[in-house]
Amino acid sequence: MAGPRLLRTEAVVLRRHDLGETDRILTLFTAHHGKLRAVAKGIRRPTSKLGGHLELFTHSQILLARGRNLDVITQVDTLDPFIGLRENLWRASQAYCAAELIDRLTEDHAENQPLFRLLTSTFERVATCRRPDQAVRFFEVQALGLLGYRPEITRCVKCRGALEPDRTWFSVSDGGILCSSCRVSSPACRELSQNAVKVLRLYQSGDWETASRLRIGDDLAAELERVLRDYTQYVAETQLKSAAFVTSLREQGLIADR
Ligand SMILES: [Zn+2]
Repeated sequence: MAGPRLLRTEAVVLRRHDLGETDRILTLFTAHHGKLRAVAKGIRRPTSKLGGHLELFTHSQILLARGRNLDVITQVDTLDPFIGLRENLWRASQAYCAAELIDRLTEDHAENQPLFRLLTSTFERVATCRRPDQAVRFFEVQALGLLGYRPEITRCVKCRGALEPDRTWFSVSDGGILCSSCRVSSPACRELSQNAVKVLRLYQSGDWETASRLRIGDDLAAELERVLRDYTQYVAETQLKSAAFVTSLREQGLIADR
């Protein structure tokens, strides 16, 4: 009988839930095989050699045995546990937003290495940088682009005309910014401030170095969060649990972000 097919890849844990007495099912985003679900057998036994290695958001090198239905994790080496995500509820909640976006917007087994690299660098930033919320906004803009939903923010998404410098509107159903004449036919669009447009363009340029030095006030941060959440939820065709989670933490005063 042929042995199981083995597969070695880098992976990040997006989601996990317990199975039976001692097992756990993990949703992984991998560098070479996209998103997949795998079982970690016996991981909840105190003696398991997998124990402690497959915490949420952890970046690891894993060895998988391909199964008929589910792959089985046979070996793990932790590359980065992103300790900062575990010690701080604000950072953890922001990492959850990035993980859920990947989980909702990617197909199983669809390789997307740039997106994998973006996710690991985002977790690194969220774990350590001054503004984890902005690291996630940057991630959202970049990830939407890598997944084929790049928002049009340089010209009017409908007529392709140049934008007036003073007033612009964002339409989630059109996937971008509208000029003042086009916005009339998209009643659901929302006005977007010039500062928000500028920050989104910087995020789209991919320059985190510059972006990380911006001083973003509360109102602008709230505006960026709202427009990107609306657009992401529109694309995902569902409400995001992570967004609701962040909102509820804020309402309970459990995180004092921004
Ligand atoms: Zn237009």
